[in-house]
Amino acid sequence: MNFPNDKIELIKGDITKVKFDAIVNAANSSLLGGGGVDGAIHRAGGAVILEECRKIVARQGGCKTGQAAITTAGNLPAKFVVHTVGPIWNGKTADAQKLADCYRNSLQLAVDNDCKTIAFPNISTGVYRFPKPEAAEIAVRTVTEFLAATDKIEKVIFVCFDDENYGLYQNKLTQVCTLVVD
Ligand code: ADP
Repeated sequence: MNFPNDKIELIKGDITKVKFDAIVNAANSSLLGGGGVDGAIHRAGGAVILEECRKIVARQGGCKTGQAAITTAGNLPAKFVVHTVGPIWNGKTADAQKLADCYRNSLQLAVDNDCKTIAFPNISTGVYRFPKPEAAEIAVRTVTEFLAATDKIEKVIFVCFDDENYGLYQNKLTQVCTLVVD
């Protein structure tokens, strides 16, 4: 689907199929794999991703909430996987800031690795239970702000796995674009 901001796209589907420079993984702080999108990425990408994650853990001891780390993408069509750790929702403002950090730090890491295209899942909206409307608002706002401040990223795609998120992102992206156009 296209929006007036032609650097942002939206699809409903499986992020492991996306052939972009980087795909983002909603990881946990151990970086050693889990369920949801994390499990799907490790399954489809193969053991090499976990091997690199283990090296990162040995070097820096995991990944804190809001931070990001990068590995190869193994057998995936993408070149890199950016692993970021979303906040577990517990109803605090700090959670919103950490979720914004995930998007910002993932984009910056992609830029640092010469990626021009990056795909995001709906971080924290699965087992971490972040409310989907608030998460969509934070994702769209943070990405839009980042794109306005750099010409290094050519395309960001939000990959929604469920209808609810897809509908929310459609609304948010249209609102953002209307503001830009007006
Ligand atoms: P978190 O722990 O950050 O909540 P989850 O993996 O449980 O991570 O969920 C994050 C989002 O990823 C959810 O909206 C979930 O529906 C979605 N998701 C699960 N599998 C995939 C996939 N293969 N591609 C894209 N999104 C996915």
